[in-house]
Amino acid sequence: MLKKIFLVEAIVLIALALGVKYWLPGFVEEQLNTVEPHPSWEISEEAAALHATIPVADLHADPLLWKRDWLERSERGHTDLPRMQEGGIALQVLTAVTKSPSGQNYESNESDSDTIAYLAMAQLWPMATWSSPFERARYQGQRLADWEARAGGAFQIIRTRQDLQALLEARSTGARVVGGIFGVEGAHALDGELANLDLLDTLGLRVVGLTHFFDNRLGGSLHGVSGEGLTPFGRAVVTEASRRKMVIDVAHASPQMVRDVLEINDRPVILSHGGFKGVCDSARNLDDSLMVELAQKGALIGVGFWDGAACDYTPAGVVKAIRYGIDLIGVDHIALGSDYDGATRVLFDAGEIAILTQTMLDEGFSEEEIRKVMGQNQIDFFLAQLP
Ligand SMILES: [Zn+2]
Repeated sequence: MLKKIFLVEAIVLIALALGVKYWLPGFVEEQLNTVEPHPSWEISEEAAALHATIPVADLHADPLLWKRDWLERSERGHTDLPRMQEGGIALQVLTAVTKSPSGQNYESNESDSDTIAYLAMAQLWPMATWSSPFERARYQGQRLADWEARAGGAFQIIRTRQDLQALLEARSTGARVVGGIFGVEGAHALDGELANLDLLDTLGLRVVGLTHFFDNRLGGSLHGVSGEGLTPFGRAVVTEASRRKMVIDVAHASPQMVRDVLEINDRPVILSHGGFKGVCDSARNLDDSLMVELAQKGALIGVGFWDGAACDYTPAGVVKAIRYGIDLIGVDHIALGSDYDGATRVLFDAGEIAILTQTMLDEGFSEEEIRKVMGQNQIDFFLAQLP
């Protein structure tokens, strides 16, 4: 009898272990990164021909967080290398997400819970990552290096302007190589130690998001409780990251933190993924007046593809938000900020991104406007800012 009970327990344990290893991570991602059912997006010959000449670039996506081989085509999520190639994407900022509050929302979050710990365990990440945001960032940076090592030249980490120039040259000869820029979504990834910036720098860190959904040691989140600006540690991080020619990302920062960054930082920043309150009055978005201030200091704004940023997240809705941004702050400051694989619902994935070129053509955008928003602005920005 005892033997039998032991056998049943053993079978249950093995089933649980296999479930955790093979089924659970995919199930979680499937629930969080959905492509909603949609008609097949028709791309005209004219739009396809124009799109094919644009090195598309996007300021924010989170596939590093999820347990699947990004080099292989997947039925899950919004991005993988084959879909990036299909979409004509030349450059993608790929960020490490390192801590998220339970009950995450746009209005108000405390900082005392940590759902990424469970995700790290469920995905069988190294044990050091279960308690340390820094270790989670390091692990995701190592995953990025692993993708590059196994991609046979089809995926390259971009650390310098020379890397980016080489990528553009390779693409101009027809190579479908995709460049990735490593970032962190929230500098709680430093575990409060400025020295950890150096370790992430060796993994190629070039985009430093200051906060995510909760207030951290750098200051207030747009979705936190304090609303405060940069703390002394926050100022130290901004100063040191800028000295290293990293780009500061103010997505998810409180309005006061955005103003503080603009005051102390003389390098232009990005707001990698978000939107304009004037066209989409969401707690996820910033007031138009602050967006104008950002643009006056040379910032690039990535317009998001999901409901919290665009409200209407159809291609027509996203393009409406892009048009609104161009009219408000000028075409030179508008970029793409998909938030692909960032626990978002979208209506077109990376392979279908040409629908934006099509929709902009339909809406009477000039070819120059389309080129700039779809990629040229982003590429020019990093060519100017990278070391
Ligand atoms: Zn985000």
